[in-house]
Amino acid sequence: MFNKILIANRGEIAVRIIRACRNMGIRSVAVYSKEDQNSLHVQLADQRICIGEGPARNSYLNMDRIIQAAHNMGADAIHPGFGFLSENSEFVRKCQENGITFIGPEPDVIDKMGNKSQARTTMMEAGVPVVPGTKEPVYDAAVGKELADQIGYPVMIKASSGGGGKGMRVAKNEVEFESQFNMAQMESANAFGDDTMYIEKYIENPRHVEIQIMADKHGNVVALGDRDCSVQRNHQKLIEESPSPAITDKVREEMNRCAVLAAKTVGYTNAGTIEYIVDASGAFYFMEMNTRIQVEHGVTEMVTGTDLIVEQIRVAMDEPLSFTQEDILFRGHAIECRINAEIPEKNFMPSPGVVENIHLPAGNGVRVDTALYTGYRIPTEYDSMIAKVIVHAPTREAAIMKMRSALDEMVILGVDTNLDFQYKMMRHPVFVEGKADTGFIGRLMRLSDD
Ligand code: ADP
Repeated sequence: MFNKILIANRGEIAVRIIRACRNMGIRSVAVYSKEDQNSLHVQLADQRICIGEGPARNSYLNMDRIIQAAHNMGADAIHPGFGFLSENSEFVRKCQENGITFIGPEPDVIDKMGNKSQARTTMMEAGVPVVPGTKEPVYDAAVGKELADQIGYPVMIKASSGGGGKGMRVAKNEVEFESQFNMAQMESANAFGDDTMYIEKYIENPRHVEIQIMADKHGNVVALGDRDCSVQRNHQKLIEESPSPAITDKVREEMNRCAVLAAKTVGYTNAGTIEYIVDASGAFYFMEMNTRIQVEHGVTEMVTGTDLIVEQIRVAMDEPLSFTQEDILFRGHAIECRINAEIPEKNFMPSPGVVENIHLPAGNGVRVDTALYTGYRIPTEYDSMIAKVIVHAPTREAAIMKMRSALDEMVILGVDTNLDFQYKMMRHPVFVEGKADTGFIGRLMRLSDD
């Protein structure tokens, strides 16, 4: 049993984890940067410790400071949340060397799945369908072009170490291949310090559907169903829902089966997500695995009646999962809208500032995860996501109605947000009919530009 958990994160996910610790009777330690000294997670935790200056590399990404903080505060485990150090195997190894439990998978497994081209190969060998493309890493544009010619255009050029949509370019034909490859490779070298690339068939108007899994250290792997995350802007998710309106139960079952197979193949433990891309015919392909809790985990919690953060902590304490596959029953429909401090009309430009007033929706089946409060100054340093509104209702139609009502009630004064944009999404016929693919928002914004 852990006595104290240090949360190596900030914002709403830090608050979410602190609450889970409270529910389990475990003490919590918040770490914070100087920019964040008035943040909610700092106030809510049982203890707090400053770990440096505002820029993440000087605080939330500073491994040694965080380990030192855990020692100083007597924490026996670290929950990384998402982003920051959550998928950093070097950090996990440092935790282990210092006798601190990292709440997440083993470092070797993170390495295996974190490298996207290596993960592709592993999944191919396990019999999980992957997007048709290269088997070996590609470093050179001329070699890449030959392979792209074989795969057939359009192709997607991707960075092995990529994430957050960086280091990813489409080449529509052989003429633009070389420049797109060089651009993606340069972006990857700059952002990730790695120029290893791979090439995939570009799937036209795909859906993004992912499976949540949970695995313990006793060999149990449970699939917790799917989330459709097709509504994206600049390859970043804006709306997530479960179950996906785009797939049949047969496809769903197969996706769950492959996710469990994938987790078992690599000896996965703790929470993870298998992301698939789904083409217009309903065929699905493995895209990548996220070896951490995700932003949109609440959607799964609503339809399965689980607490994934509590489950993560239990698994890290070597306990068996508190449920079997048979225990997991899917009830109703859940939708999440991410609320960002941004201006949709200006290509979703971040727009931080002081929250002058705030009213949050509530009620039957309405959940809001946020670290906002009246008077809070949203820092410029970090992500623009400031709240997640999640609703649960018996059917998709009822969930959409509930989300409209929740967003209608929600007020955030003082900063620009995408609240109105999300409100419009909930009324847009393409979303309402369950037909939004990953290019939907991009096409919509280009139309309104004309
Ligand atoms: P990241 O790790 O940077 O988020 P992903 O590999 O998860 O990158 O891809 C992000 C998004 O890019 C996907 O959700 C999808 O919308 C789009 N995408 C990725 N691969 C392809 C592909 N082969 N064809 C079409 N779209 C793709």
